[in-house]
Formats: sequence, structure tokens, C-alpha cells
Amino acid sequence: MTDRTVTVIGLGPMGRAMVNAFLDRGYQVTVWNRTAAKADELVRRGARRAATVDEALAANELVVLSLTDYDAMYAILGPATTALSGRVIANLSSDTPEQAREAATWLAERGARQLTGGMQVPPSGIGTPDSATYYSGPADAFEAHRQTLEVLTSADYQGEDPGLAALRYQLQMNMFWTIMVSWLHTVAVARTHGITATEFLPVALKTADVAQFLEFYAPRIDAGDHRGDVDRLAMGEASIRHVLHTVRAAGVDTTLPAAVLDAFQRGMADGRVDQSFTSLVEVFAADTA
Ligand code: NDP
Repeated sequence: MTDRTVTVIGLGPMGRAMVNAFLDRGYQVTVWNRTAAKADELVRRGARRAATVDEALAANELVVLSLTDYDAMYAILGPATTALSGRVIANLSSDTPEQAREAATWLAERGARQLTGGMQVPPSGIGTPDSATYYSGPADAFEAHRQTLEVLTSADYQGEDPGLAALRYQLQMNMFWTIMVSWLHTVAVARTHGITATEFLPVALKTADVAQFLEFYAPRIDAGDHRGDVDRLAMGEASIRHVLHTVRAAGVDTTLPAAVLDAFQRGMADGRVDQSFTSLVEVFAADTA
């Protein structure tokens, strides 16, 4: 069920892309942003500018939040008192699972229900069919607004716990940022040798395509099988040491390869010399025990 109306609060790059996607599909969109000028272009396209947060909340049952984090939500919605009652807040701002759960409770105390969302795409992916967002929260609220939310991306509902969507999102981001920073670090080293990011691109793309490794090792990890028949931790340790020396020789910051080397060496100190590097998953797990 949808009445093709929605409120969007937060007009950073993501929020603006969301409003544009809704407008493209003929939705009536009410918008509010702390910096009001960010709504100007959207208003020219047909969005309605709410003068106050209360007015934005009153306009529609479904209110999409696209903010830097949940602290911004409290800053914006804190002063709104009765206006929150009866609203479904699709909070597509990213934050921790704990923050998502606390916010759901905070909103419930004010008569609103939260759908936590974790968007897996940049602004350019919003409104395209092959992109996806994790959702969690009350199933009936999700089903009531699924059609509207699917204007933005496809919806991957994780369950009632408001922290679940945030958890899935953070798992993905843990991997994403590490990969991206590793790429930037490698480009920094390459540049000291006159190799530009664009020149390095074909190799970067090939190296980033690790699908065959993940597919090979994932079932083994789940089975607790870290046998060193394909790779040995000692081999990996030597390899990352060579990387570290190459980075140091280039005069580039060594923090990143040093952290990787440290993980390998802790694995070796843990008696895993002849196991696969996948045994590091047990070393990491022991760190949090
Ligand atoms: P931005 O941080 O650029 O903008 C978010 C919005 O938050 C702005 O409207 C800003 O208002 C508002 N805001 C921040 N702090 C406050 C505050 N204290 N009080 C009031 N308003 C505040 O984020 P993006 O648009 O890039 O992203 C939105 C969310 O989506 C983030 O949680 C991000 O992690 C997530 N995300 C982003 C992706 C991306 O590629 N950009 C990809 C996937 C998820 P103002 O305009 O006044 O500054």
C-alpha cells in the first residue's frame, strides 16, 4: 500500500538523490534540511519545502532520514515533540547497531516507529534496480512502506531487531573501507615511482577481483578447516614483509602493511605457521574474547 507521498529530512548527496528518485517516479515529496539552500534545486523540480521540522513530520506518515549519523537525528528530532507520534521513520543514516536500537526505543517513546536502513550504494546507485538496502524493524511498518522504499533501491529485510540492518551495513563497510584505503595506499606507493592511479588501474581492478579466493576459502573457514595445502601463514608473513620494505623504501607511511604483518606474526606466535592465512580469523576472534 502506498499513497505516493513521503517526507525526506537530510539533503546531503544521498538525500538529494533520494528526493530526485521519488520525484522521477511522480511522488509528492516534502523536504527539510538544516541548510535550507540545499533544497532549492529540488523545490524547482517540484518538491515541497517544509518551513519547520514539525511541518515536515506532519506532512506524511513515512519520513525518510538521510543524515550523517544518529546524533544528527537527535539534534533535528529532539525538539519535535507531538509531531513524531504515528510516524514511520525510515532512518537511512548509518551508525552502529547499538545506536540503531537506542534510537528505535527513543522514537517508540515518542509514538514513532523506526525502520533502520543501511544503503549499499552511493548516490549514483539510488533509483537503479540492481542496488539494495538492508532494512530491519517492525515488519508491518516495513510492508506498509515497502513499495515507496523500493523506489530508492531494492529492499533486503533482515528482521524485527532494529540493529540488524545497521549490523549488516557495518559488516560490509568494514570490508569496503579497508579495501579502498589499501588501494589508496598502493597508489601512494606507485606514485613515488611515477605510476599514476590511472596507469595502475588495470592491475588494481584485477587484484580487487578476489571472488575466486573468497569462494574457495569461505566453506573451509565455516568448517574450521585451515589446512595449509594451498598457502601457508609463513609464506604470507614473508610476502607482507617484502611489501613493508617496499613501502618503507618508497618513503610512504607503513602503518597499513605493518598492521597486516602484525596480524600474520601473531598467527605464527599462536602456532599456526603451517596453517593457511585463513587461520587469522581465529586470531582476530580471540582478540575480542
Ligand atoms: P552528509 O554527511 O553529506 O549529509 C547528511 C545530512 O546530515 C546533511 O543534510 C546535513 O545537513 C545533515 N546533518 C549532519 N549533522 C547535522 C546536525 N547536527 N544537525 C542537522 N543536520 C545535520 O551525508 P550523505 O548524504 O553523503 O550520506 C547520508 C548517509 O548515508 C550517511 O549516514 C552515510 O554514511 C550514508 N551513506 C552514504 C553514502 C555515500 O556515498 N555518500 C553511501 C551509502 C551510505 P547540512 O546540509 O545542513 O549540513
